[in-house]
Amino acid sequence: MDDVTAILDPLNDAQREAVTAPAVPMLVLAGAGSGKTRVLVHRIAWLMQVEGVTPFGIMAVTFTNKAAGEMRGRIEQLIGGPAGSMWVGTFHGLAHRLLRLHCREAGLREGFQILDAEDQHRMIKRLLRAMEMDDGRWPPRQIQWFINARKDEGLRARHVADNDDPVQRQFIRVYHAYEEACERAGVVDFAELLLRAHELLRDNESILRHYQQRFRHVLVDEFQDTNAIQYAWIRLIAGKDGCPFIVGDDDQSIYGWRGAKVENLQRFQNEHPEHRVVRLEQNYRSTGTILRAANALITHNNDRLGKNLWTDGEEGEPVTLYAAYNERDEAQYVVESLRQYLRDGGARSDIAILYRSNAQSRVFEELLMAEAIPYRVYGGLRFFERQEIKDALAYLRLMANRDDDPSFERVVNVPTRGVGQRTVEQVRAQARADGSSLWKAAGELVNSGRISARAGSALTRFIDLINRMAEDSADLDLHEQVDHVIQVSGLYEHYGKEKGEKADARLENLDELVSAAQAYEPDPLEDELPPLASFLSHAALEAGEGQSDAWEECVQLMTLHSAKGLEFPLVFLTGLEDGLFPHQRSIQDPDGIQEERRLCYVGMTRAMRHLYLSYAESRRLHGSETYGVPSRFLAEIPADCLHEVRPRVQVSRPATLTGGGLAQAPVDGITLGSRVHHAAFGEGIVLNREGDGPQARVQVNFEGVGSKWLVLAYAKLESL
Ligand code: ATP
Ligand code: MG
Repeated sequence: MDDVTAILDPLNDAQREAVTAPAVPMLVLAGAGSGKTRVLVHRIAWLMQVEGVTPFGIMAVTFTNKAAGEMRGRIEQLIGGPAGSMWVGTFHGLAHRLLRLHCREAGLREGFQILDAEDQHRMIKRLLRAMEMDDGRWPPRQIQWFINARKDEGLRARHVADNDDPVQRQFIRVYHAYEEACERAGVVDFAELLLRAHELLRDNESILRHYQQRFRHVLVDEFQDTNAIQYAWIRLIAGKDGCPFIVGDDDQSIYGWRGAKVENLQRFQNEHPEHRVVRLEQNYRSTGTILRAANALITHNNDRLGKNLWTDGEEGEPVTLYAAYNERDEAQYVVESLRQYLRDGGARSDIAILYRSNAQSRVFEELLMAEAIPYRVYGGLRFFERQEIKDALAYLRLMANRDDDPSFERVVNVPTRGVGQRTVEQVRAQARADGSSLWKAAGELVNSGRISARAGSALTRFIDLINRMAEDSADLDLHEQVDHVIQVSGLYEHYGKEKGEKADARLENLDELVSAAQAYEPDPLEDELPPLASFLSHAALEAGEGQSDAWEECVQLMTLHSAKGLEFPLVFLTGLEDGLFPHQRSIQDPDGIQEERRLCYVGMTRAMRHLYLSYAESRRLHGSETYGVPSRFLAEIPADCLHEVRPRVQVSRPATLTGGGLAQAPVDGITLGSRVHHAAFGEGIVLNREGDGPQARVQVNFEGVGSKWLVLAYAKLESL
């Protein structure tokens, strides 16, 4: 088969049209599973093998590291060789690369490090303290949000219009202080990567010209989720003559809450009058039933660009809907169903459990663990974000850049070495007075003698430790360097002293960090950077990846947001309760509800063959019990697509609780036909009763609310 056949054969006519389009700005607008990502990959192969574009001239952008990795893999498979110097990555990853290559022009020091969300939060808290602003009145999270949102809009502190709102004024003041602190420490947060890369190109004529000439082909996947600065970035690089090739789906725009602008799809069309649009309408991913259910749901949104998605695949089985009586029952049902799938010969990696918020993963994790089914949580507390790993990285970061204040604060007294809060406060004051980093201030304090002898010697021990580790490990390989630091810093011993499973897990993680360093291959395009600095950036950017090699053989748990772009033969979409999904925050706001509905659409359209939906009538989450109403989205799915499973009765019950007797008469007086009162639902009549002991549950028809299954142990029903 020749190259062209290999590229075009696996495509339908509309897909082919997009892949072979002449060099004009292109927009591929299409629904889920219609092959947008496939088209993008084949377009790249087409450019290289037919149009003769070199990999050097191509940039492809996606949203997650996983998607970027998959894309590179698929390109290499198609072109039958390495994609080499092609820039394939996430917005953040590519912005980071630009800044590394041109750090001087970008006003950054060599070896600058990346501040993740948690570091950023801590830094803002410290600033508030220094500015004597009470963090009860000025919530650091809100300020963090404010700063990032401004950066996403392309605004620095000095650009944010001063306004009369006293709260805003304070936020702007912190934003100023925050910028200075980052500058001094030589650190860059995630939003800053994008903003600074944009400024770099905007303000450096020659650099911009270089990249515009180089990247005549910029391809962007999931374009509906670009924010203002990402849009501006693409626009700059593509310039006047470039031919951006963008693919997206307005129905899958799910990051509005974080500044993404679905309007960018429209804007792209207005700003490129010569553009062409290709629409793809055939879905290759899901069964007819799954697609019909998802299509019906999304028609409840307004202002859609409108698409007609069909499939000629099989109808498939109905979508299963399970009404659980609580979150454990839901998890049990999910695990039982997936066990059945595995028994029938399915693979673990076929299975995804999706949920709205991270906290929901715990119950599934417990059950999967108990059943010894390997699983992996994707996007939860990621490997590189764990406490012990961040401690180890902080040491390494300080060795690479002594002015890294967040790292200094993090480990100056971990493990404890007698640097108390007061001493740290003195160091901070000194740093403020000198306008210097904490590291320099600490040295200054020790020399000046204006500090107690004990505190002075404790600080000196720390300074010596960092200097010594840097010196002693300078000639070691990266992983030996990491190992050296974990041992010599005392971290390993420190965490070894903790007891129990958690401590073991921490030590395992520290070992894993050494393995990660050993397996690490620096980005070939950044090879001037010392391996340690390069590894540290990787750790900040690619949190979570490189963790488990067994990833292919695991059941995958993730939030709906991180499932974007992926597909699985078997999908469980859980926690479909109003207040949870759609999320409480969005319920009052029509735009919010629409975004949640798109998120539900994204979730449903991940499924290829089997889709299970579930909700729980009561749920313990974040430590409190709530009674859920089934998600309004369920009512928007045509009944003939659904197969409703009645909640099952718990059959296995601990003998101690029941005394082994057969159906005992209820001692609570709540029998069929009795009138009861419930704190939230009001009065109703008991229609059904099942199970006993802690599992006992009743179905009650509440006036004006309808019928509900409730667990007696939680429902606190009053007999009337
Ligand atoms: P999403 O909106 O979820 O990102 P998408 O539009 O990017 O979806 P793809 O992931 O590219 O869709 O494709 C969905 C599935 O359909 C993939 O498994 C892909 O390999 C398959 N597919 C796409 N086009 C074709 C085709 N012409 N023939 C056969 N299979 C196809
Ligand atoms: Mg896709």
